[in-house]
Amino acid sequence: MKKQFHSGFQSDPAGAPSPEDLLRQYFGFDSFRSRQAEIVRHVCDGKHAMVVMPTGMGKSLCYQIPSLTLQPGDQGLVLVLSPLIALMQDQVDSLQARGIDAAFINSSLDRDARLKRYAEVTEGKYRLLYVTPERFRKDEFREVLRSRHVPLLAVDEAHCVSQWGHDFRPDYSRLAEIRQLLGEPTTIALTATATAECRTDIYRQLGIPADEIQLFHEGIDRPNLTLDVCEVWGDSDKLEVIEATLAEDTYRDGSVIVYFSLIKTLERFSDALLSKGIDHVNYHGDLRREKRRRIQNAFMSGQADVVLATNAFGMGVDKEDIRIVMHAETPGSVESYYQEIGRAGRDGKPSLCRWLYDQNDLMTQMQFIEWSNPDADFYSRLLTLMTEHSEECRGFGLDWMNDRLQRVSRHDHRLATAISMLDRQGVIAGPRPPECFQIIASTPDMFRDDGCLAEKKRRDQERLYAMVELASEQEDKKAFLNRYFLGGQ
Ligand code: ADP
Ligand code: MG
Repeated sequence: MKKQFHSGFQSDPAGAPSPEDLLRQYFGFDSFRSRQAEIVRHVCDGKHAMVVMPTGMGKSLCYQIPSLTLQPGDQGLVLVLSPLIALMQDQVDSLQARGIDAAFINSSLDRDARLKRYAEVTEGKYRLLYVTPERFRKDEFREVLRSRHVPLLAVDEAHCVSQWGHDFRPDYSRLAEIRQLLGEPTTIALTATATAECRTDIYRQLGIPADEIQLFHEGIDRPNLTLDVCEVWGDSDKLEVIEATLAEDTYRDGSVIVYFSLIKTLERFSDALLSKGIDHVNYHGDLRREKRRRIQNAFMSGQADVVLATNAFGMGVDKEDIRIVMHAETPGSVESYYQEIGRAGRDGKPSLCRWLYDQNDLMTQMQFIEWSNPDADFYSRLLTLMTEHSEECRGFGLDWMNDRLQRVSRHDHRLATAISMLDRQGVIAGPRPPECFQIIASTPDMFRDDGCLAEKKRRDQERLYAMVELASEQEDKKAFLNRYFLGGQ
């Protein structure tokens, strides 16, 4: 049975604001973009939607406007599942600045703040609530939701269901159960990058038959972006192209991101650019949090207009006038490439996405794939270590464990991957010390099943191979991306 949203538009009492009114009133925009209006009406009529729209086009409004039609006193709450804490924080900040009572609940809140927020939600506060799917592991949270009516569930960045592999992000494979718990609400899934295979995955995980969910596909083309690939050989070639690109007149009036896969390459290029007097800042995961924040702020304010970054930079970077996104090293998948170039030209002005393709960089990505896919033997040794030497693990920490588990390379990040996988499966109490040393559940079979682990690795390899195909696409890169993401629609 389809449930009507509390305020169906047609049947609304006279005088209720229309979606267009709400758009003007809260966001100050004159009109909806592309199919936003159609999607808003569709979900307000209680029908499910799958929205595939390029980054920056405005997917969020498709569930934010419906939340504004909720009547106070109805205890209605639009629940948004989002994979990343950083994204939530940003969205909620900007909603609150517009006078919309939105909030998030995630692990960044300390216990007191979390309990306070639970109480507020129970009392009927907030019309929009952002959480990660992992939140549903907590009985407390499930209990809190019982006091609210959820007419709409939004699954943002829905490609995560599949991109991280359903075996490896179990909380996404519980979407159907989450929907059931919420009383099968109208559901809207949103992403910029969903292949046909990925969409099928999403429907299955949601537990909604494909013919009951309407696809709104906006294509993936961003007409103002120029995509090119420069084949290069070695660092000096790359440096030359970077320099020349930074000097291009057409793109001088905005900011630039140059992406690297490895911190050490980034630092090498940073030195080289500095010695040529090219001003820039660096952003990567080895910098302290405070410093990262300072750099991000300097970039957002335009004070620093060139940033060399690893993929740690960008989630939630919503800067209008990024004119150039360069990839100085080859990204690991078409999905990440597309996601990263998606940050360019959000203001609609001509922008350049230039990928410096050096075949040698594929080795780096192949190494990443190895590290992101520990085998059954590694998991078994890690779990034995944690069980038999739990005191030492706690006392000496991850570096000590790393030394026990591998002799080859300190930079090998299989341990970090394994810890995060075990956390996602709920085997250990958290992703970081000290919680990560505490085993709280038995180990699912998949960690012993080399076949299953190999399947995940094969998918990673296929995604990298698609990058090689994209590089060799002579005709039209955008046509390739369209085929990649739209195929089988
Ligand atoms: P997405 O999730 O698709 O990447 P967002 O929802 O974050 O995009 O929106 C990107 C930007 O576009 C935001 O700054 C938002 O305010 C703006 N935007 C969205 N819809 C409209 C509209 N109809 N008119 C003007 N600006 C809009
Ligand atoms: Mg978004």
